Amino acid sequence: MQQAFTTVWHRAIDRKNRVFIWTSLFVLVLTIAGGFQPLDHLFRTSRSAFFLHDAKPKLAIVVVDDASTNQFGEWPWPRHDIAKLVTALDEAGAKRVAFEHIFAPGQDRTGTAELARVFQSLPQRPIIAAGYEIGNAGAQRKLKWPDPQLSAHAQVAISSVPISYVGYVLDIENGITVNGHNVPSIAAAIANQPKLRARDAYVDYSIRPGSIPQVSARDVLAGRVTDQLKGRQVLISSSRNEVLLPRTGSARFVMAHAMSAATLMEGQQRHVGPWPGLVLGFATSWLIWFQRRRVAIAALVAAGLVSFFIPLLCHLQRTYVDIAPGLAVVGAILLARLWRRYRRGSELTNPLSGLPNLLSLRDCQLADKDIVLALHIRNYPALAAALSRCEDKLIAQIVQRFQGAGVELLFHGDQGVFCWISAARSPTQLAEHLEALHNLFRMPLLVEGRQVDLTLACGLDDSDSPNPQERFANALVAAGEAAKAGLRWKVHDAAPQDEAEWQMSLLGQLDAAIDHGEVWVAYQAKYDLVAGRVSGAEALARWSHPQRGSIAPDEFIPVAEISGRIDKLTYFVLDQALALAAKMGPDFDMAVNLSAQMFSRKDFPEKLALLLVRHKVAPQNLTLEITESAAVQSEADMLSTLTALAELGVTVSIDDYGTGYSTLEYLRKIQAQELKIDRSFVATMDRNRSDRLLVNATIKLAHSLGHSVVAEGVETKDTFNMLRRMGCDKAQGYYIARPVPQADFVTFMENAAARAA
Ligand code: C2E
Ligand code: CA
Ligand code: CA
Repeated sequence: MQQAFTTVWHRAIDRKNRVFIWTSLFVLVLTIAGGFQPLDHLFRTSRSAFFLHDAKPKLAIVVVDDASTNQFGEWPWPRHDIAKLVTALDEAGAKRVAFEHIFAPGQDRTGTAELARVFQSLPQRPIIAAGYEIGNAGAQRKLKWPDPQLSAHAQVAISSVPISYVGYVLDIENGITVNGHNVPSIAAAIANQPKLRARDAYVDYSIRPGSIPQVSARDVLAGRVTDQLKGRQVLISSSRNEVLLPRTGSARFVMAHAMSAATLMEGQQRHVGPWPGLVLGFATSWLIWFQRRRVAIAALVAAGLVSFFIPLLCHLQRTYVDIAPGLAVVGAILLARLWRRYRRGSELTNPLSGLPNLLSLRDCQLADKDIVLALHIRNYPALAAALSRCEDKLIAQIVQRFQGAGVELLFHGDQGVFCWISAARSPTQLAEHLEALHNLFRMPLLVEGRQVDLTLACGLDDSDSPNPQERFANALVAAGEAAKAGLRWKVHDAAPQDEAEWQMSLLGQLDAAIDHGEVWVAYQAKYDLVAGRVSGAEALARWSHPQRGSIAPDEFIPVAEISGRIDKLTYFVLDQALALAAKMGPDFDMAVNLSAQMFSRKDFPEKLALLLVRHKVAPQNLTLEITESAAVQSEADMLSTLTALAELGVTVSIDDYGTGYSTLEYLRKIQAQELKIDRSFVATMDRNRSDRLLVNATIKLAHSLGHSVVAEGVETKDTFNMLRRMGCDKAQGYYIARPVPQADFVTFMENAAARAA
């Protein structure tokens, strides 16, 4: 049963709610138990400092001090001497006399009759004290009644005062009821409040204790007091015991009676109690706990102002509100929130970026159609090592790029992993989003004056799993696969087909993909190192697959080649590229990759010629890039096609030079005008001496054979400058430009032209 309840409780009420409920309950119980009273007393006495004032001139104290006892002996004095003192007080104009002394029946009774006579003769009955006898080890309190001969002519009042456990006199007891009789406290008797009220009062420490005049009993007896006692009620202080008063410190015991009486003389008090404050406290702490930071801070400030000013204003009207329980619940919830923040702060944020880390993904709410994206900066470890001191700056720039791409919810994991969530979009929109992101990251970052290139891979998960962590993991796996496959991005495949199956299915889709516009052409600038300008571009096929994401040409082209279905793609790319070439004018050289398969198509040169005519592009403005490996397919076909192409007047370029088998022999046979040194040598030549030598030798060799030389994979400024010094004709690579969609390429060319102008 209990277990069932616990389970229900845990399930229905999450951790966050539980913290709130337990804190509130705890404060509630402590409030009922009065645990906050000391705090409220403290607040009250502190508040009273704002309203310090003198007691009403209705009360005075006569002290049986050392001077008095030196002259008249130790207290208690013989009762006839006390009678003299009372008479002297009466003569000094005292309105009424009150004793804290208990005239116990067991004391020396000589002079009692005389004192009784004096009591009787007074205009107002004096007040004499009764005390408690603590019997039975404190269990039973019995009243110690004063001498009946005296009490017959006096009002009896209780001499004890409630002393709080911190030692201060804070409360005023009105009195007690014994055998159906109301016996007031001395203070209540002095203030003339005969009715016992249910609720005690608080001693008002805004009354200055020093404003109640004190006179030595000796001076009274010597007739030396003039006006100080006139018309006042006089408390006779005979006890040397002391009490503690807030602010003032220790004082004669009589001050407990005096301050209490002075308080009661000021008028009725109203005690509002802790409940209104507690309700407000609950409301405030609810806001602090469940609302956003701004609301929480506003609530806290409001609560602070209210709990300061309202009690202060009430205090003026002798209305007391207890704010400690309310403050306690607010304080506890505030601490809990700060703790929550601190814990999450260290646990759930990435120290470098201050962004939520991947752990915080578990708190993230996903809608059904949300797409979880992960971006992995592949070369992050190397960059972080190179920029060890300013890794944070690197991260800051990366985060800035994300913001530039409009990526909103961003989590930051270690080692260059970022993650965000995109609301439902169509695959094309998503592709555009990712292309835009890639383009933004294409420009190198500048960290501490150093250029930094990022190698990215994106993955995404569009499944409908409600678990954000699982979906993120999927996206990250997809990013890894994208990187391996040389893709820009990839959609996570819930049930991965085996590779062969997948490639076959790809193949089946390629033709349709071209028709549906999933295949498009990217252009990468080629830079003329001699003329110092962009002289052309290479057309590169792209496939944005609606489920699998971006599929790299390296993945689908070989499959298409092997199965003999490269034609459609080739003509598609040629068509697109020539259309752009026509726009770019006669100074622009367009390069298109030509698969070896095409050499066996006897009608290819003819069709190409038709395309050139249709697009009105001169053959000299077209370069066909063929790979070395293409050569080994069928030499006869290749040579006849190449001859036909040469007759047509297009430029033939040997792509990926250096990776195949053939070298000189091959070069001589092929009627090529251009040689492209493979990027695997170029990309590393600024670091690797043998690559540098090889590139240099290749340039010399190609030139000696009458070929022009293009270096691809130029990634750094050093490489770029080296190639220029080596006499290389053209350069292509990320340092100059990345492959971009046609529209971006046109903008790029316009900007280049504007800069040149
Ligand atoms: P490729 O002809 O050698 O194309 C150059 C490749 O190097 C492109 O990869 C390009 O994005 C990449 N690249 C350019 N500059 C740099 C650089 O500075 N550093 C590095 N590391 N890489 C750079 P992409 O676009 O993935 O193309 C891969 C291959 O797919 C191409 O290699 C080409 O052989 C083939 N391909 C692309 N489009 C077509 C096409 O329309 N028809 C045929 N038959 N093959 C194509
Ligand atoms: Ca190429
Ligand atoms: Ca190449």
